[in-house]
Amino acid sequence: MKKNLVVQIVAAFILAVIVGVIFGEKASVVQPLGDLFLRLIKFIIVPLILSTLVVGVTSAGDINQLGRLGGKTISYYLITTLIAIIIGLFAGFLFQPGSGTGLTIDGAKIEAKETEGVIATLLNIIPTNPVEALTTGSVLQIIFFAIFLGIGITVVGEKAKPVQQFFEGFAEVMYKITAMVMVLVPIGVFGLLAPVVGNYGPSVLLPLLKVIIAMVVACIVHVAVTYTIAVKTIGKMSPIKFFKGIFPAAAVAFSTCSSSGTLPITMKNVQENLGISNKTSSFVLPLGATINMDGTAIYQGIAVMFVAQYFGINLTFSQILMVVLVGTLASIGAAGVPGAGLVMLTMTLAAVNLPLEGIALVAGIDRILDMFRTSVNVIGDTSCCVVVEPKKNKEEMPI
Ligand code: ASP
Repeated sequence: MKKNLVVQIVAAFILAVIVGVIFGEKASVVQPLGDLFLRLIKFIIVPLILSTLVVGVTSAGDINQLGRLGGKTISYYLITTLIAIIIGLFAGFLFQPGSGTGLTIDGAKIEAKETEGVIATLLNIIPTNPVEALTTGSVLQIIFFAIFLGIGITVVGEKAKPVQQFFEGFAEVMYKITAMVMVLVPIGVFGLLAPVVGNYGPSVLLPLLKVIIAMVVACIVHVAVTYTIAVKTIGKMSPIKFFKGIFPAAAVAFSTCSSSGTLPITMKNVQENLGISNKTSSFVLPLGATINMDGTAIYQGIAVMFVAQYFGINLTFSQILMVVLVGTLASIGAAGVPGAGLVMLTMTLAAVNLPLEGIALVAGIDRILDMFRTSVNVIGDTSCCVVVEPKKNKEEMPI
């Protein structure tokens, strides 16, 4: 069944490309198949994040252990995000995607949305009403609530055992539902990809081909170098086993452009194919799907270089440092939903006084870039699981 799923996903990919190329915009008729799948995985997210994260926190056992797991996870996320944005800046420098595009800015298309500002965003993580956070699907607030619930349960101890057991049972139920929905992954991939292939003709893609190439190369470098080294040396796992095991999650991320939406599949993949414990995955992954976005960080780097080159602006060294800092924050703040990275780009461009109109230039191909950045976002989360998972013969991990 599992081998079959990978074969089916690859077949769905190929079929989607063929159908998209042959039928062009008419390929949109299969969109409902994609939407069906999207709705199914979206409906799993909120209960899954709540239950698994509570279990993740309580199963650490005590607050010190939780602190250690949290510390390692956040350090890994931060370091890889920094590496990602530097790779992105470098790719933007190397490929010079902003020079000679022949594009002009269409004023009507500019919709640079206002971002809230750092302090407001941080304060907003604390839900004033956790039930509202659950009903509106505000992921960061749900994470805050779940971590606090988990800490509360751990500190109370014996008396809170029934609450803990409730969440453990609840999480199991959500895993089972995920397993049922996973059967539909190939259909979902086909339904989501064929219309994208059909809608993006050469006229949309060609002027920005260099941006796409820079993005793809930077993503490949980050995955092939950063993650491979981390998985092999710190995680002590064969990279082949790793990449094979997480392929379905990466494919779903690619077609849905949502790391939160992919979360159920990501969880299943790391537990069943990589042998990662429930304890690690249920803490690392829900958190990572929201705050760890290396693909989005790569994109911020490339997009900043693109916009600067387009407007003929030379960035100073301190501006580049600013991009590294703000781009990292932007990737942490971006929600795991389609197009979030584009909205956060406003923040990064504004930080170095680049014209926000630049966003309109890349907006046309955002879906394509989003596919690559979301895959990297999800692969990054899974690599963290491998890195922080305690090894059998070794109590402490170097990170
Ligand atoms: N779509 C991305 C994700 O869900 C976020 C982004 O737009 O960069 O991971």
